[in-house]
Amino acid sequence: MLACGRRCCLCHKFAGGKMECHHIDPAAKGGKNTFENCIPLCFDCHAEAGHYNEKHPKGTKFSPAELLGHRDRWFATIDKGVGPGAPGDYLELDRKLFVRLYGLLGGSKKMIHFRDHDYDNGYDVKVEYRLEDFSHAAGMPECEFFDAEMATALADFLTAISSYNNDFTNRVWYDGDRANIPPEWLYGRKPQEKRFLEAVEVMNKASTKIWLSFAQFVKTARLRLKLELE
Ligand SMILES: [Zn+2]
Repeated sequence: MLACGRRCCLCHKFAGGKMECHHIDPAAKGGKNTFENCIPLCFDCHAEAGHYNEKHPKGTKFSPAELLGHRDRWFATIDKGVGPGAPGDYLELDRKLFVRLYGLLGGSKKMIHFRDHDYDNGYDVKVEYRLEDFSHAAGMPECEFFDAEMATALADFLTAISSYNNDFTNRVWYDGDRANIPPEWLYGRKPQEKRFLEAVEVMNKASTKIWLSFAQFVKTARLRLKLELE
């Protein structure tokens, strides 16, 4: 678990003690609990990785060879602080990648919404479209940072975004360009004050988490990539 920095070898999310060893070669299941045949995964990725079927490779996730590749690349990244095979000018590549991703978010000027907005009020849904564009782009293979600290800061930020997305289900109502926690829960004929306040608290927390992990992502970029941002 130290070799992977307690992070999942597939999604790079910090999993702490919530990790499982997945058998890379399932045929070796009969007793082969060796380090060589194990890829440490978070619970979510473990559930998905288990579904590979050689006879029906379509629609399945990872072959043993792919898993081995992911595992060894991630171990090497944690070991050296930089991904294996990173070109000498990887800083320049990582800088370009960061600037592109940062641009999709509209920079700090737009992201400040997540620090300052109180969810007892409605908001413009564009802030969420930006997160969507960002997560989509960041999930592409050409958007992997060579620098290990950038890769982990990005994974943490993506985790905060996905938990924010889960939190607004059943709490936030969408109406055209606006979204809000329904004020009728407070002022309707059958007030549900508790439900409203709980939703506000959950959304404010999730939103603060987005801001903090975004700030960490930016700080890491300045430090590791020696990047000056406007
Ligand atoms: Zn994972």
